[in-house]
Amino acid sequence: MAEEMRIVLRNYGKIDPLKIDDYLAQGGYKSLEKARAMNTADLIAEVKKSNLRGRGGAGFNCGMKWSFAAGAQADQKYVICNADEGEPGTYKDRLIMENDPHTLIEGMAICAYAIGATQGYIYLRGEYPFLVSTLNTAINQAKEKGLVKDFDIEVRSGAGAYVCGEETALIESIEGKRGEPRFKPPYPPSEGLWSKPTIVNNVETFANIPVIIEKGADWYASIGNPAYPGTKVFTLTGDINNRTFFEVPTNTTIREIVFQFGGGVPGDKKFKAVQIGGTSGAFIPDALLDTPVAFDSMSAIGATLGSGATFVIDESRDIVDVATRIAGFFEHESCGKCAPCREGTARTAELMEKINEGRGSNKDVALLEKLGTVMSYSCLCGLGQAAPAPVLTTIKHFKADYEAKFV
Ligand code: NAD
Repeated sequence: MAEEMRIVLRNYGKIDPLKIDDYLAQGGYKSLEKARAMNTADLIAEVKKSNLRGRGGAGFNCGMKWSFAAGAQADQKYVICNADEGEPGTYKDRLIMENDPHTLIEGMAICAYAIGATQGYIYLRGEYPFLVSTLNTAINQAKEKGLVKDFDIEVRSGAGAYVCGEETALIESIEGKRGEPRFKPPYPPSEGLWSKPTIVNNVETFANIPVIIEKGADWYASIGNPAYPGTKVFTLTGDINNRTFFEVPTNTTIREIVFQFGGGVPGDKKFKAVQIGGTSGAFIPDALLDTPVAFDSMSAIGATLGSGATFVIDESRDIVDVATRIAGFFEHESCGKCAPCREGTARTAELMEKINEGRGSNKDVALLEKLGTVMSYSCLCGLGQAAPAPVLTTIKHFKADYEAKFV
């Protein structure tokens, strides 16, 4: 039986998020103090050793990322929290910011000290306007108490573009430009905001930092799957009894998430598929449910962990119709900067609509497979690279549902 373990949600429901004294009473800001007493090389080595990997979805080693920015020579460096959380079905970052904003601020301040940054930004999803005052209240409280010194944090709201969750599009947006991704490399740790070394980490990633500093890298590295240690927050939506959230160690299996924590599919219907990682995630059939949710084990089955958004559909759903709607979402959200994404998302949506309306054939399915593979290799950013996954995985695991639509 898998058990919940709360690291990033450790203070959920236990504190008043608008009262810094509540956070302090739980040991808050002690890790920042501890970090400041360390030399920055040792601090970064500790984060690296914990093997904390980015919780925005890409799973890059956090300490390693910090070491790139720390090693870069510049008169100014920046720390950005990616709180854009645009993936449909994802609300894990909102839970953290809403219930424990100081853990995010403390994590960012530790990062700022480690890399030598004096300015930070929280790039907040445009649809979360109610969080602006929560975050600003927490930032001001930390300043007034003199806890966060030599580091300013500004909250910037997005304007609803999904692509601005991509770190370089987000950076362009903060710079006041149209939110479009840049070519990488150079990566932000060496050349980011206003061309200065910049760390962009997700809310959940930063929220892990104070606990890692408090309890040590070895403690953290021993939790869950050794290659992707720690916990992960999951948010459940769709045909599932418990439409809820929880935080579990990374050796928990998809089956445990859907059936133990999620309580399975409502009524007497059968489970059909689960999509993990949000709209850009793969659809996973029953046969693969015993896979642990760690980053690499998910990759091994052709899936991504992504943001941890978990969307379940039961047998009564038309999975081709679901994938068609998702294809429409990506067509709408493509920024249009690169041709493989601009054209690829539009052609994919067109072919999916054709099949979904009963005008398709095996030839269209083969075209979708070819197009999706090209997009995953050639699109400029994660949006276009990940967009084909729902289509490709529904073709792979649910081909019969496509064939049933042919005339
Ligand atoms: P990526 O692998 O290109 O980069 C991951 C991080 O590591 C970035 O911060 C990048 O700058 C850094 N990095 C990678 N290689 C580097 C190098 N050589 N030197 C320095 N830094 C380096 O992935 P990405 O395009 O940033 O993100 C893709 C992920 O985003 C997908 O896996 C998807 O799951 C996720 N995603 C999340 C959401 C959400 O709402 N949370 C929405 C859409 C997509």
